Amino acid sequence: MTITDIERLIQLLAKLPGLGPRSARRAALHLLKKRESLMLPLGAALTEAAGSVRRCSACGNLDTVDPCSICTDPRRDPATICVVEEVDDLWALERSAAFRGRYHVLGGTLSALDGIGPEQLDIAGLVTRAAMPEVTEVILATGATVEGQTTAHYITDRLAGLDVAVTRLAHGVPMGGELDYLDDGTLTAALKARRPV
Ligand SMILES: [Zn+2]
Repeated sequence: MTITDIERLIQLLAKLPGLGPRSARRAALHLLKKRESLMLPLGAALTEAAGSVRRCSACGNLDTVDPCSICTDPRRDPATICVVEEVDDLWALERSAAFRGRYHVLGGTLSALDGIGPEQLDIAGLVTRAAMPEVTEVILATGATVEGQTTAHYITDRLAGLDVAVTRLAHGVPMGGELDYLDDGTLTAALKARRPV
């Protein structure tokens, strides 16, 4: 391995969320020291996941099958759709095991600052799904951030003409909090205490 290879590894690691150049260097050194036990298995896992994981065309979840295993699970309640910003929010709700319906992953939030409008998010897909006769409730679980709230308001307007109840998670959540940071108990309580918008 040349110095260039090491630098390239550090540069790529530094692109990961939460890793700056300094922690990327530490991570690279750690990987190089644990070549057999960590670096090679990690490389194989990355290649495998890159080849097999895809986005569910119905809900936006990530899985190796499309539609995803949540969308096709007959034990999940098809009447309730929980709208989340990203897949890690879905993971957080699944970890809490508090929700037994289905999901819709928007892929982000509306943000004028970042130039993200409704077309950049899967809102059209949500409206189509919410119009299906079996769907009776749409739970908005976007974050308590300004963008999350704006997105929830926008979706509420878009769903206004449909025969579905639109509810919002009762966030006992600090502003700017994301679902993924909530402990399971808080998340379960927020889901139970959801209210109409
Ligand atoms: Zn799905």
